[in-house]
Amino acid sequence: MYQTLTTYALVGLRPVRIRVEASIRRGTPMLLIVGLAAGAARECRERIRAAASRTGLRLPGLRITVNLAPADLHKSGASFDLPILVAALAAAGHVSAESLRGVSLLGELGLDGTVRPVRGILAVCLACAGDAEIDTLIVPVANLPEVGPAKGIRAVGADSLSSVVEFLATGSGLSSAPGVGPRRATTSSADLADVQGQAGAKRALEIAAAGGHHLLLLGEPGCGKTMLASRLPGLLPSLTESEAVEVTVAHSVAGLLDPGTGLIAAPPFRAPHHTVTSVGLIGGGSRLNPGEVSLAHRGVLFLDELGEFRPAVLEALRQPLEAGTVRIVRERGAVTLPARFQLVAAMNGCPCGFAASVSGRCVCDPWIVRRYLRRLSGPLLDRIDMTYEVPAHRWRSSSAQAPPASSATVRERVVAARLFTSRRGQDVRNTDLAAADLRIQCRLDDESGSILAEAARRFGLSARACHQVQRVARTIADLAGAQDIRPDDVAEGLAYRRRLGSRPSGSLG
Ligand SMILES: [Zn+2]
Repeated sequence: MYQTLTTYALVGLRPVRIRVEASIRRGTPMLLIVGLAAGAARECRERIRAAASRTGLRLPGLRITVNLAPADLHKSGASFDLPILVAALAAAGHVSAESLRGVSLLGELGLDGTVRPVRGILAVCLACAGDAEIDTLIVPVANLPEVGPAKGIRAVGADSLSSVVEFLATGSGLSSAPGVGPRRATTSSADLADVQGQAGAKRALEIAAAGGHHLLLLGEPGCGKTMLASRLPGLLPSLTESEAVEVTVAHSVAGLLDPGTGLIAAPPFRAPHHTVTSVGLIGGGSRLNPGEVSLAHRGVLFLDELGEFRPAVLEALRQPLEAGTVRIVRERGAVTLPARFQLVAAMNGCPCGFAASVSGRCVCDPWIVRRYLRRLSGPLLDRIDMTYEVPAHRWRSSSAQAPPASSATVRERVVAARLFTSRRGQDVRNTDLAAADLRIQCRLDDESGSILAEAARRFGLSARACHQVQRVARTIADLAGAQDIRPDDVAEGLAYRRRLGSRPSGSLG
């Protein structure tokens, strides 16, 4: 009276194979679940008892022990309900051992025996597809549209416990996964052409998109910072297949995948409110939810009103900005989640918001402005390659201007620049260039070098700041298809350096 089967637990975004063992022997009738967190085991037991009795599958009045191995892996959540009950039923002889060969399953059980959706199905499917011992995965029917992109595995959807038992007995009765759904086009319909004027800001966005540079937008309220930032994902190249899988898995684990959609093909855009907690931003919590930084992986993380975020929350961004991953330390070991996002931050230039206004409406004392901006952590600002002051938009008759470029047009230029970057023999985005590689990839001729040296001397630029100027200048040259960085590229790169708290007149540094 002993049976085993296979299911999966999620550790961060990574599925881990779990062996479910059930044994039945004489003794006081009870159901003992070992290897599951205490609270989860208690709830699981209640759901299992109710679901089994509603379905007419009586568990024997004997001592049933179910063990989930490995024991040292912390396991919680309701996705073990179905495998635990099926293992117990198999040990009791209601399900044959032969029918479980090559089968893995997971799902939450309702008290009435229905099988309810769980998180992270796509990740589990991909893991099963790479597991030679598994050829069939039984998932909750509501999760079935998620498995479309996984190849090499037969996934079937169950809506009830009895349909699972019937399928195991007869090999039929469960629906198969539909084909791969349409790849989702863009995340938003917001187009750059909707933004009137703001040629300088659009140029900054284009450069940021081409090089992957983190960008800070300064400007008074209502100048269009949010409108501009939300257009950045539309300027980025579509995700590659493997990037799309990473992004879709993160959304699947977070339970944010819309049913019926295939892979997410467009770079995601996440804009958490400034009241977000550290856990909300970097991830964690009892169910280990991916945070905003992981949901923005391969896309854009937009922090509006940067100065309003709690300093501790902004400090938590340091590691993902540095490493492209976020490490969440838990009671039982640490988990690493992907978090390679492009940061766009926006804030007023001063408390009243009019620091950058040419109208001279700013009423703030200079020292108050400095204090306001110093609330931002230095290490965070150090990671930002470009700062742009968005001027207040002045309405002009549209007939006097050329029609603004659409997102599609700019994206073509960005894609061409990225292609040029790789043709130069560089396999990372310019923003990710290591300092040691700058000498080769961002070589400056005498004239360009002296422009940068002179600016560094006059405005006290740190070595790090000079490297950032070089990376941005490299992107500007790539956009122009220029093999070498030209003096004008360095001058334009320098224009995106502004020491916070300085007046617009002395805007370099
Ligand atoms: Zn002010």
